[in-house]
Amino acid sequence: MGVEGFCWICQLLSLGATPASSTAAPLATFLIATTITSWGSFLFFCAFALPLEWRYELQPEGRCQGKRGREDVRVDSLLSLAKKVAAPDSLLSFAKHARVLFLSRYDVQLAAINLTLSAAATVAIGIHHASRDAARRSTLIYLESPQTWSEMAYVLASTIGFFFWIDCWAYVSHRLLHLPLLYRTVHKTHHMWKQPTAFVALGLHPVEFLIFFGGVYAAFWLAPLHISAIAVNLLYVHYHNAVDHSGLYLESHLPWQPTSLYHDDHHRLFHVNYGQSLTIWDRLGGTFYQPNKAYAEHIFSH
Ligand SMILES: [Zn+2]
Ligand SMILES: [Zn+2]
Repeated sequence: MGVEGFCWICQLLSLGATPASSTAAPLATFLIATTITSWGSFLFFCAFALPLEWRYELQPEGRCQGKRGREDVRVDSLLSLAKKVAAPDSLLSFAKHARVLFLSRYDVQLAAINLTLSAAATVAIGIHHASRDAARRSTLIYLESPQTWSEMAYVLASTIGFFFWIDCWAYVSHRLLHLPLLYRTVHKTHHMWKQPTAFVALGLHPVEFLIFFGGVYAAFWLAPLHISAIAVNLLYVHYHNAVDHSGLYLESHLPWQPTSLYHDDHHRLFHVNYGQSLTIWDRLGGTFYQPNKAYAEHIFSH
């Protein structure tokens, strides 16, 4: 979710919430912490994604497709489903309502699976971090507050550096996933939605999710990163990821962040606009959307 970034903060906070038990019973700690953080992540994701779903349903004039003068191809909003299952003569219990609403949609199911994967990875790193002293840790994550101007400057510089790392990897990995073999076997799952939903932000084949977050997490072993640098970046990425998949036309106040139409065009046209936050990678790579070119799912060249 966009603010599913908060899920990540919850998960990252679990890094420091596991110390004694993580050494005494690491497996039990891992299972309990993963369960709690995955459910917390999913519920928080829903709290952010559902208002986007509602807004999409209630404000047709604010949709991306309308900006391109195209027909809306999305039919399965949660609000529509809610109206169906909430008929007065229905005997469905609240729990059954929730199951029908959420588990009838593949994007929601995938989001739940992938949030569980991310929770497991983060908790594993957290246990590793909490159960060893600094000299024996393999990751370079640190929690200590900066004390001097130079330490503060490093936190700022590494936050920006991590942002570029994530954004560049998002472009490179995404472009690789559009090679014919990887596209057909892995990434096509994400492209099931020509008009995505906020949940599609995490509606990825689990292999794709692991590829992307594997690259993001690799930075934890490459350079010292303060926990705030990680939290800010993951919040930012997930916030815009959900907004960009919402189907709503939304502009950012940040000059480098394109409108949500940028990624919406990717879902509609397929092999174009691979970037996430910066368009510079697409411009350098010759994959930025050009109105005079023909795009389709079966056209892989540019
Ligand atoms: Zn997408
Ligand atoms: Zn794609």
